[in-house]
Amino acid sequence: MFLTFKFRDAAPLCIALTLILVVFLLPEYPVPDTAEAVSVFSENEPVLIIDAGHGGADGGAVAADGSVESVINLSIAGRLEAMAGLFGVETLMTRESEDIDYPDDADTISKMKRADQNARIQLINSVPNGVLISIHQNFYPDSRPSGAQVLYATTDGSSELGEIAHTAITESLCPDSRRVAAPISRDIYLMRNVHCPAILVECGFISNAAELQKLQSGPYQTKLAALLLTSYLQYEGASETMLA
Ligand SMILES: [Zn+2]
Repeated sequence: MFLTFKFRDAAPLCIALTLILVVFLLPEYPVPDTAEAVSVFSENEPVLIIDAGHGGADGGAVAADGSVESVINLSIAGRLEAMAGLFGVETLMTRESEDIDYPDDADTISKMKRADQNARIQLINSVPNGVLISIHQNFYPDSRPSGAQVLYATTDGSSELGEIAHTAITESLCPDSRRVAAPISRDIYLMRNVHCPAILVECGFISNAAELQKLQSGPYQTKLAALLLTSYLQYEGASETMLA
């Protein structure tokens, strides 16, 4: 069954509905363990591409207690994928486990990371009408900073989606944060090489013990996923209006 809503003016309602749905139906939804076969998406079909940052030989940032960023990223990504399915949203995950297959010639960590990033870029750019949400956790040597921040690529639509997602997450989960949505650094290889609207979501700081505890909790991850889904739906609604 597919549900059709007019999301442009109904973002708060959508967020509330989604949160209610997930709180009652998906309190501990597991990350799918089977890789989704890459289907050929049609030209007009919008596809939410979910990138769980890092993985394999690259765990990303590591918290003081040894918690690894890639695991948190994947857990939030899996929840987002599950919820998107409830709304009939087509999705594609760039990875579905902590294991990554590398080519034989990738014999150093840096070659492994580059091969993985290139494979993700190729996959993302193969989708005709994709929108990318890349999920990460922040880290800072000082343990005090906290709060989410959404960074956006230079491609068309990225800043619009970035502003929507940043506002939604900040207002709901870290209202005291003064961070703003911002263009992403050109140093981020994946984000500078994808062609679709793309954002990178720093969900919070795993260097802050209190925020790490939240980022590792199932209900908080579910809220983050719900906010990302409603942001995507609001963005898609606005895009359709612009094209109409
Ligand atoms: Zn990261």
